[in-house]
Parts: sequence; C-alpha cells; structure tokens
Amino acid sequence: MDFKELRELMVKTQLIPRGIKGERVLDAMRKVPRHLFVDDFIQHKAYDDMAIPIGDGQTISQPYMVAIMTELLELKGNEKVLEIGTGSGYQTAILAELAREVYTLERFSSLADRAKERFISLGYTNIKIRVGDGTLGLPEAAPFDRILITAGTPKIPAPHVEQLSEGGIIVAPVGDRFSQILIKAKKENGEITEEYHTPCVFVPLVGKYGWRESENSE
Ligand code: SAH
Repeated sequence: MDFKELRELMVKTQLIPRGIKGERVLDAMRKVPRHLFVDDFIQHKAYDDMAIPIGDGQTISQPYMVAIMTELLELKGNEKVLEIGTGSGYQTAILAELAREVYTLERFSSLADRAKERFISLGYTNIKIRVGDGTLGLPEAAPFDRILITAGTPKIPAPHVEQLSEGGIIVAPVGDRFSQILIKAKKENGEITEEYHTPCVFVPLVGKYGWRESENSE
C-alpha cells in the first residue's frame, strides 16, 4: 500500500474541502506517517475519515479533527506547547512538526510507552512525554504558549488557564460526556475570551479538573 499517496488523498478529500487552509498544517498532515500510530492489523484504515481504537478504550482522532485543532492553535514555529491526552502520539507528532517544543501528558502508561517508542523511532527530539493527570497541567514547565486538550472536558481546567502565557491559546472540546464543541480560548490582559467552533465527540478527560473516573463508565 502506498501510504504517501493515501496521505495526499486524505489531504485532498478530507481536509481541503472542509476548509483547512494553512499550508504548514497541510504539509505536516502530508508528512507524518499516521499508519505507524495504529496497530499493524488496522494500518490499511489509518487514512480513512474516522477515529480508530488504540487500546485502553481510547482512540486516535479523525484526521480532520487533528487538522482543525492544529489550525486553531495558529502555530508559527517558536511555541512551547502542552498537549493533554497523548493517546497514540499522532497529534503530538503533528505539533512537534510545527512548534519548538511539545510537552504531552497521558494518564495510561501503556499508551505513553508506545507513543514514546514511536517518537524515538521517528526521530522526534522536541517532545517530552509524562504519565499523569493532565488536568493539573505541568506547573514546572509553565508557562505554555499553546495548550491542546484532546479529550472531552466539562470545562477548561483552571490550572491550564493559569499556565497559559499572555496572548496564548487553548483549544479544547468542551461539553458533556457524549458530545462537545471545539473551543478556542485566548488569554488577553489576563482575561479569557472564547470562540466556538465545530461540534465533536471525544473520549472523556478523566482527572481532578475533568470528569471523575466513575462517570466514565457507560
Ligand atoms: N491525541 C490523541 C487522541 C487520544 S484520545 C491521538 O491523536 O491519538 C484522548 C486521550 O486522553 C486518551 O489517550 C486518554 O487516555 C487521555 N486522557 C484522558 N484523560 C486524561 C488526563 N486527565 N490526563 C492525561 N491524559 C488523559
């Protein structure tokens, strides 16, 4: 299977027609080998227009969601980014292509271990991965220019607002446990302003400032 060709097709049929415009974002989506972030047996579906299970009840987000979240972050190349919910590490790799430094937090060590192996084998040197409750952020590495939450949350966790630099942007799916709206929040003069974007469905953000573990069982 020609994965490079499938990536080009993904960009042409799923991203550009839905309004993803940024050339840097599109180039990163053309470059990162998404099929290496899913299990071998499902690699042939890696570039399809959908989320795919990655174990521990979690999923790698649909390509379009990855692209729009990345586009909303407005990365120019020199940012320090915090990502909550490493999962497969695919979104992390896209961020690492477009920013200076990426810190990524995952609550399941099984997923974090696999993601770490992928970062090493693909040669990423600007990603730092930690296991733990990402709703707490990462105070020791703050402030961050950008924060991306890749799991559904009832609200933007307060520690993230605190750890965001002035002029910084947070992108997060905010809503109930079954459906959310993608929100872009900007910090200006210490105040947060929010823009509402596309409806979406993410697995829950489970932690102190997200959903409780018990609320997570369906
Ligand atoms: N960006 C990922 C999508 C992963 S799905 C990808 O492209 O593959 C969301 C991830 O968030 C899951 O892996 C889940 O385990 C993780 N997660 C949920 N709550 C979390 C928390 N409080 N801290 C860190 N990770 C969390």
